[in-house]
Amino acid sequence: MSDISRKNPAGEHAPLLPFPARFLTCWSLFVVPCAAIFGGFAANTDVSPRTALLCFAGLAALSAFVIRSLLAAQWRAHSGTVAAVRDTANARAAADDAALRTVLDGLQLPVLLFDDQRRIRFLNLPARDLLGPVSPGKDFATAIRNPEILAAIDRVIRSGSSETVEFRRQQPVSRLLRARIESLPDPGDGTRSFIVMLDDMTDSERMREVRSDFVADVSHELRTPLASVLSIVETLNGAARNDPDAQKRFMVILDEQAKRMARIVDDLLSLSRIEMNEHRPPEGIAELNEVIGGIVESSRLIAGERDMTITVDMPSPCEVAGDSLELSRLFQNLIDNAVKYGEAGTAVSVFGRFVDDTVHVTVQDRGAGIPREHIPRLTERFYRVDKGRSRAAGGTGLGLAIVKHVVSRHRGRLRIESDEGKGSRFTVELPLAPG
Ligand code: ADP
Repeated sequence: MSDISRKNPAGEHAPLLPFPARFLTCWSLFVVPCAAIFGGFAANTDVSPRTALLCFAGLAALSAFVIRSLLAAQWRAHSGTVAAVRDTANARAAADDAALRTVLDGLQLPVLLFDDQRRIRFLNLPARDLLGPVSPGKDFATAIRNPEILAAIDRVIRSGSSETVEFRRQQPVSRLLRARIESLPDPGDGTRSFIVMLDDMTDSERMREVRSDFVADVSHELRTPLASVLSIVETLNGAARNDPDAQKRFMVILDEQAKRMARIVDDLLSLSRIEMNEHRPPEGIAELNEVIGGIVESSRLIAGERDMTITVDMPSPCEVAGDSLELSRLFQNLIDNAVKYGEAGTAVSVFGRFVDDTVHVTVQDRGAGIPREHIPRLTERFYRVDKGRSRAAGGTGLGLAIVKHVVSRHRGRLRIESDEGKGSRFTVELPLAPG
C-alpha cells in the first residue's frame, strides 16, 4: 500500500489524508477496475448481468472489509509510533530543560530567562535569593521594578541586541546591580528567549566609598592630636630639654593623645568593617542577657568612679538573630555613653520588653539630655553635641555611628528620645530569633 504521508515537525511520517479519504481512495482503486472487468464479463460472456452484479457486490464488500482492516491496523501502528516519538521528544526536551536548570542553579551569578512578552520563564537559585519569591509567567517588573532595566529589556526585545545597565535596588537594603541582557538563539520552534545576568556591585562600590571616607575622616580627626604630639616633641627637644617637671607633664599629655589616636583608629576600623558587611544579614543567634550582662559587669567599675549604678531588667531568655560581637559593641557604646553623659551619682537603667516578634532594649540615663535639634545628626560619624566634653570623656565621636550600622545590619531600628535636663533614652529594636 502506498505511503501517502509527509514529514511532521518531529521528523516522522504522518498520514496526509484523513482516514475516510484514504479508505475511499484505496477502495476505489480496487473496485473501479473490478467494475470494468465484471461489466466486460457480463457483456462478452454467458454470465448473466445479475450474477456478475452479485459477484461484483460481494467482491466490493469483501475488499471494503479487508482494506478497512488493513488501514485501521496501519493507523494504529502509526499512532503508536507518533505517540512514542512525541513522548521521546518531550522526554528529551524535559531532560535538556532539567540539565539547563541545574547548570544555571549552580552558577554564582543571579540569572533570569524571559520571553518576548517580558514574561519570566526561569530564575536560578541566586536570583531567587536576591529577588525573593517570583513566580514564572509573571512580568519581569514583578521581579525588578526599576525603570532603567525595564527600558533596557524592552530595547533588547525590539532590537535583538545586547545591553548592560547599572541600577540601584532599595529593598530590603540598597544594592547597586549591573545587568547584562542578551537575546538567546532561536531553538527552531519560533520562540524567542532572553537572558539577564545580574552582578552585585554593592561590595566594590561600598569598598570604594568606605576607603575614601576613611581616608578623609582619619586625616581630619587625627590632625589635632598629631599636631599636639608634634608640638610637645618639639618643646621636649627645645625649651623643656632641661626641665624634668615640664617633661613629666608633657609625657602625660603625650600618653593621652597617643591613646586617643589609637581609639580613633580602632573605632574607624570597626566602623568600616561593619559598614562593609551591612547588606549581609548576620547568621548567628545572640542571647542578649549574656551580651548585656558581660558589658554591665565591666562598666560597673567605671560607673562606680562617678558614684553611678547600673540596673538591668531584661526578659529571659532573649535570643535575637545576630552577631554577638557586633551587638556587644552596640550595647557597650550605649552604656558607655549613659555613664559618660549621665549625672554623677545617678543610675543607668537597661531594660527590655518583647513587642510582637521583636525585642525593644532601652538604655536610659539621668543626665543633661540632648537638645532636640541635635538628635537627627547624632549617628553621623564624628558628630558631637559638645566636642570638649566628648574629648574630655575619651569619646571619639564614632560610637553612635557604629550603633546605627550594627542596628541596620541586624534589620533593627534605633530610637533616640531625650528630655533636656532629665536625661536620654536610646532604644534598640531587634527582630527575635525565629522559632
Ligand atoms: P562620643 O564618642 O563623642 O561619645 P558618640 O557617637 O557615642 O560619640 O556620641 C555622639 C554624641 O552624642 C556625643 O558626643 C554626645 O554629644 C551625644 N550623646 C551620646 N550619648 C549621649 C547621652 N547618653 N547623653 C547625652 N548626650 C549623648
